[in-house]
Amino acid sequence: MSYVDEVLDLVKKQNASEPEFIQAATEVLDSLRPVIDANEEVYRKDALLERLVNPERQFKFRVPWVDDKGQVQVNTGYRVQFNSAIGPYKGGLRFHPSVNLGIIKFLGFEQIFKNSLTSLPIGGGKGGSDFDPKGKSDREVMAFCQSFMTELCKYIGADTDVPAGDIGVGGREIGYMFGQYKRIRGLYEGVLTGKGLTYGGSLARTEATGYGLLYITEELFKCHDNTLEGKTAVVSGAGNVAIYAIQKAHQLGAKVVTCSDSTGWIYDPEGIDVELLKEIKEVKRARLTEYAAARPSAEYHDKATEGTNQWIIPCDVALPCATQNELNLEDAKTLVANGCIAVCEGANMPSTIEATEYFQANGVWFIGGKASNAGGVATSALEMSQNSERLSWSFEEVDAKLKDIMVNIYHNIDDAAKRYGMEGNYVAGANIAGFEKVAEAMQAQGIC
Ligand code: NDP
Repeated sequence: MSYVDEVLDLVKKQNASEPEFIQAATEVLDSLRPVIDANEEVYRKDALLERLVNPERQFKFRVPWVDDKGQVQVNTGYRVQFNSAIGPYKGGLRFHPSVNLGIIKFLGFEQIFKNSLTSLPIGGGKGGSDFDPKGKSDREVMAFCQSFMTELCKYIGADTDVPAGDIGVGGREIGYMFGQYKRIRGLYEGVLTGKGLTYGGSLARTEATGYGLLYITEELFKCHDNTLEGKTAVVSGAGNVAIYAIQKAHQLGAKVVTCSDSTGWIYDPEGIDVELLKEIKEVKRARLTEYAAARPSAEYHDKATEGTNQWIIPCDVALPCATQNELNLEDAKTLVANGCIAVCEGANMPSTIEATEYFQANGVWFIGGKASNAGGVATSALEMSQNSERLSWSFEEVDAKLKDIMVNIYHNIDDAAKRYGMEGNYVAGANIAGFEKVAEAMQAQGIC
């Protein structure tokens, strides 16, 4: 049996209750086969893959807090410190009822390779809780965040582990957690990224993941002698990544005609009105039904009653920006049949393995989230640099660095795929390019 198959068997046995982690490990290790096979003897002797798929450390903790009725609620918190071979752990915190250890491990594992691709010195980690901020008052969110950080602060620090936001964790939550960290540890340091601009945040961090997604998509089109100008795009999600992806897509001349949240999706043939979407999602924290109510050109589709999603709308480019496994084989077939030529992932692992394979088999240019959404963590690393320097860079400076990083990522993953005879397979290219640096650093640091 090959070394990759042996380790995949082990991953399945040891993590049987964690399907998302098994999915992520399978996708990565499968595509690394040519690299592993070429170095099989030394990697096997050093148990490199066994070490890679096992987090260095993981924490699971109780998070008690008091709701507005005076009732004590108890949630579970997690932080997985997956791999620190190339730098301090870095990766977001997700607050969503679906969070469990397997979800956090899949995200932390992906983060190792994504962070490596940015070419910045950051290791892989991820955390979060099954707490649902939706429908909670500001005071309840603050009570939860303070309790969460009271425990988490024991394990993180500006030079050890620097969390950021993810689903359900935006500027408000980061602010409450930063305040609590400072209060308990007595340290004013860059322990979190995604901070507000008045207390150490970076300009362009809010926009970074969505903008970065479009910068790499633009480079992909350019390198295929094509352009985003005049293209129709379908986006899922209506959160941080989706909003700024839509904004940048419009700036680059494409027209985005959909967005979605967990209950429904919008089709707006005139193009999504980003300012209206921001007002509804960022200010009012309301549902997309309000978008349709305010905009005559828009249709609202309820997912539960209609059983449809935005992938049925014909487009040139699909940008999944909501959550994992939101685009399955059936959706992929519909997109291809409707003439979609490119799929670039804003979310983490939004396409199932079968959907990804279908896109690749049908000549769709497909860039997986590990590469295409790396702009968020890259800009978080730029926020860390600014915090260390005690300086703030201008929006233009950060945005220009972000664009450079995304263009470099495109060329690195393209080159890595070509080096192993898999031209155009950007998924394999991303895994290989991300892995090579981490593997070399792990080997250099001995058995640890
Ligand atoms: P937000 O919480 O800001 O937005 C998430 C969006 O996705 C919301 O519209 C939400 O709808 C929808 N959504 C969440 N869960 C589900 C679900 N189970 N089914 C359908 N829709 C869902 O999160 P972000 O925009 O920050 O993150 C989106 C994705 O991008 C995630 O996969 C995240 O890991 C990834 N990512 C984010 C980065 C960042 O910088 N923020 C960086 C890199 C990756 P609703 O409001 O109804 O829940």
